[in-house]
Amino acid sequence: MTWKPDEIRRLFPAFVNGGAGVYLDNAATTQVPDCVLDAVGGFERGGRANIRRGLYPLSLQATEAFEEARAAVGRYLGAADPREIVFTSGATAAINLVAHAFGDTLGPGDEVAISEAEHHSNIVPWQMLRERRGVGLKILPVDARGRPDPDRLEAAITARCRLIAVTHCSNVTGAVTDVAPIAARARQVGALLLLDGAQMAAHGPLDAAALGADFYVISGHKMFGPTGVGALWAGRDILQRMPPFLGGGEMIRAVTFEHTDYAPPPQRFEAGTPPVAQAIGLGAAATWLMDQDWDAAGRHEARLTRGLLEGVRDLEDARVIGPLENENRIGVVSIAVDGVHSHDICHILGERGIAVRGGHHCAQPLMERLGLEATTRASLALYTTDSETAAFLDALGDAIRILR
Ligand code: PMP
Repeated sequence: MTWKPDEIRRLFPAFVNGGAGVYLDNAATTQVPDCVLDAVGGFERGGRANIRRGLYPLSLQATEAFEEARAAVGRYLGAADPREIVFTSGATAAINLVAHAFGDTLGPGDEVAISEAEHHSNIVPWQMLRERRGVGLKILPVDARGRPDPDRLEAAITARCRLIAVTHCSNVTGAVTDVAPIAARARQVGALLLLDGAQMAAHGPLDAAALGADFYVISGHKMFGPTGVGALWAGRDILQRMPPFLGGGEMIRAVTFEHTDYAPPPQRFEAGTPPVAQAIGLGAAATWLMDQDWDAAGRHEARLTRGLLEGVRDLEDARVIGPLENENRIGVVSIAVDGVHSHDICHILGERGIAVRGGHHCAQPLMERLGLEATTRASLALYTTDSETAAFLDALGDAIRILR
């Protein structure tokens, strides 16, 4: 089947109203379809209630909707049991949860390994763990195109390694990490593997366990869901072994001043009132995503990505940062222009109604490794059209001519 982005766009009010313009900043946040807005609106307008505690029908319905959303997110990530899903406020919060709940069981002599390709949200929590617990932090280098280098696993991931935390897909280069050798190395040294799926999750359902991951984190607002919500997937046995991170209501079984018995997971990790409406919206997004024809959507995105890679190659002074080949990558294309700052490019494009991102993309160590201060990044989604990428390439060419 051919993919028809125009039909998909009709499901997104931001495109129907024209408010989003030419929107190529999907790696930062995606737009939201009606079915997600309806799910959130239905909960809020229908009379909302807090979950779990109430015994009246509205509260029972809210609890049921929240748990159905958990099950939908679980199906999207290939979970064996909905209780493997913990709702968080986003991917950052999910990584911090692991850095505390799992990380605080580590100490001097233990190591955590991350890669040079990480978003700051998968760097800083581990540095903070190093400060707190004296845990060693090792860095897996990337290759010249910015992909974690499978040939350099042995030095970075030693017998002391307890956790490897790497991105499933870079928000700067679009490179999909070759997870299999990293997962194999994790098993060899007895380390757990966390994959940061913030970027990958917008590109179709996946099976986190089959990838070899022990933890998988996602972000609602990057997969057509609401802001302020995300999720952590982890196997039941791992969640059961982990102590809580945040303390408060809902994560307990019984509390006295002397002692607290914690609730079983996932509630153990969901202290306080969770983002109920947002979680319901994320569940709707996961359900909608599961209904899409991913073969066709993937081919469409790959074709547009190829057009961008070729189009940039034809522009003088511009080069693609990241994989040049159109394999094992998503439609996140970073571009450097010699002698021109990406903010100036983004400004000119912005004036033409084209939304792209410029800067270090919260990945300063990767930028330093690649010898760059900033790039201009165009990022696609399943609703991106040929005319959007064409408008981008045109405007980029003009901006370069103006600024050089
Ligand atoms: N990891 C990656 C690869 C990202 O691109 C982002 C968002 N830019 C995050 C983590 C953080 O996600 P969130 O906004 O949900 O905290």
